[in-house]
Amino acid sequence: IPQYAGRTVAVLGLGKTGLSAARALSKGGARVLCWDDGEAKRAEAQAQGFTCAEPTLANWADIALCVWSPGIPHTHPKPHPAKAVLDRLGIAPVCDIELLLARCADAFVVGITGTNGKSTTTALIGHILKSAGHRVEVGGNLGTPVLELEPLPFFGTYVLELSSYQLELTPSLDCDVAVLLNVTPDHLARHGGMDGYVAAKALIFKNQHQPATAVIGQDDRHCRGLTQTVAQRVDQTVVPVRGDGEEPGGVFTLDGVLYDATDAGYPREVIDLRGIPTLPGAHNWQNACAAYAACRARGVAPEDIAAAMRTFPGLAHRQELVAEVDGIRFVNDSKATNADAAEKALLCYKDIYWILGGQAKEGGIESLLGYFPRIRHAYLIGEAAEAFGETLGSHIAHSQCGTLDAAVAAATADARRDGRKGAVVLLSPACASWDQFKSFEHRGDVFRALVHDITARGAA
Ligand code: ADP
Repeated sequence: IPQYAGRTVAVLGLGKTGLSAARALSKGGARVLCWDDGEAKRAEAQAQGFTCAEPTLANWADIALCVWSPGIPHTHPKPHPAKAVLDRLGIAPVCDIELLLARCADAFVVGITGTNGKSTTTALIGHILKSAGHRVEVGGNLGTPVLELEPLPFFGTYVLELSSYQLELTPSLDCDVAVLLNVTPDHLARHGGMDGYVAAKALIFKNQHQPATAVIGQDDRHCRGLTQTVAQRVDQTVVPVRGDGEEPGGVFTLDGVLYDATDAGYPREVIDLRGIPTLPGAHNWQNACAAYAACRARGVAPEDIAAAMRTFPGLAHRQELVAEVDGIRFVNDSKATNADAAEKALLCYKDIYWILGGQAKEGGIESLLGYFPRIRHAYLIGEAAEAFGETLGSHIAHSQCGTLDAAVAAATADARRDGRKGAVVLLSPACASWDQFKSFEHRGDVFRALVHDITARGAA
């Protein structure tokens, strides 16, 4: 990032992304001052040769830029004290995406945001473009920090998953294709309420200029409202996308079949998504519609998009089919850290042996009552086990298992004994993982290993 050569810059927040920004800036010849409130994080930065300096007016007097970690509040509920220092210096904080754009101004940018489905849609778009022979780098909120992505030639495409926090910290974002999937209540404290959250999500369209495309999901009123607003601008093509069960139009699915009605005339049938095991459920069909619209805007032919969708490997921990043995499917949906996400999985299967529990979110699993008839037995783990047991009450047979390994063993034994064709042992915990695991990824990895262990023994 040559424009900061010889200048002093600050990096606040020294996680994976902060450190990657520090390295990129330092490589470009900037003098980097680092800070993180955590001592261990500072020690790690120092071990990599960086100078740590607490954010005060004196320490930061010379800075030309502040790279702010999206995880650190800069407005609500209470800004980090460093924000006051920046305000006095007249500097607006930015995140690493802003630096990527400064470095690669010519690349084509596809940005994806929304409350749910960002990672899946981002990965799917990346997969389709790569399959169509495009030079593509995929990152952002998902996976690799953007400053560690390969620099692309000018005809290359960055496919970036963008959180609302990152959007707020990327003032010059100008997506060639911007995708907004949905906006439902989440992270409200950080955005000062729903209006603030919707406004942050809408930033993905802010600087778009011709010939830009806005792809907008239609399953909530906030997104429908934004569709109207964005469509009034002359310089954006707006493509509404809808999963099953919504009024058809734009790019949509009907019984799992994806149609393109963006051209005048009869809707064109593109692909039957029901045959794609890595895209189960109407929520994923909406993601597929969004990916289709984005890739069309990048010039990929409908039949090439369809062919690539059939080979989508899917993402780990999101209804990931881990194994299928003796007609029993083992599904890792560890990413379902709240009831809404677990609902999406419960919708997709019948005869479910459901493993759930962990650290409960507000509201628990009350909202899932309607799905209880699909559940053969529930296996409860972690802190929420007792409270969840009360909700399940006499509606569902359930066992207190304590740990994931006991739950997997019990669920497998029951499913085998019952011998129902199409039975599913499903880890969809409707809870955070922190009580027993390092992360939802760790929980899913443990589940996968337990299943492989069982299936290997079963086969032996
Ligand atoms: P994110 O990156 O936004 O968290 P993911 O692709 O990782 O999204 O999906 C997380 C969970 O959100 C999925 O397991 C599923 O339960 C739910 N989900 C995925 N796509 C959608 C969608 N389009 N609408 C509603 N919920 C979705």
